[in-house]
Amino acid sequence: MLEALDDAGEHITAEQVRQAALARLGTVSVQAVYDILGALTAAGLTRCLETPGHPARFEARVGDNHHHFICRACGRTIDIDCATGEAPCLTPSALPSGFTATEAEVTYWGTCSNCADPAAPVARASDSKKQEDLNARRTA
Ligand SMILES: [Zn+2]
Ligand SMILES: [Zn+2]
Repeated sequence: MLEALDDAGEHITAEQVRQAALARLGTVSVQAVYDILGALTAAGLTRCLETPGHPARFEARVGDNHHHFICRACGRTIDIDCATGEAPCLTPSALPSGFTATEAEVTYWGTCSNCADPAAPVARASDSKKQEDLNARRTA
């Protein structure tokens, strides 16, 4: 499972992890995928990105304090290297006494290159995504 995430090298949804695992293992239940991803995330081997309005995505790149750019239209998520390379890269201007910031997570929101293309309007991009999801469920 972790291998599937590593190979993907991207931020993939639980469904995409399941598809990759299916190719390797034959059969994998949706519940098993969620259980394993949950365990991997709890163990710090994967990172779970909760994106409002899109399915959570998982990645195997952990512990380097990198940030993310998320496309509002299709949910595509890419890594943005930390601006300073050190955690926390954003130092709060004021913290109550006794508080220590060890990490800062920045999410940039915008439009990816696919969705910015006028030939692929945002509405159509998300429609075809929904269709894909439906197909995935039907074959599940
Ligand atoms: Zn997009
Ligand atoms: Zn990432």
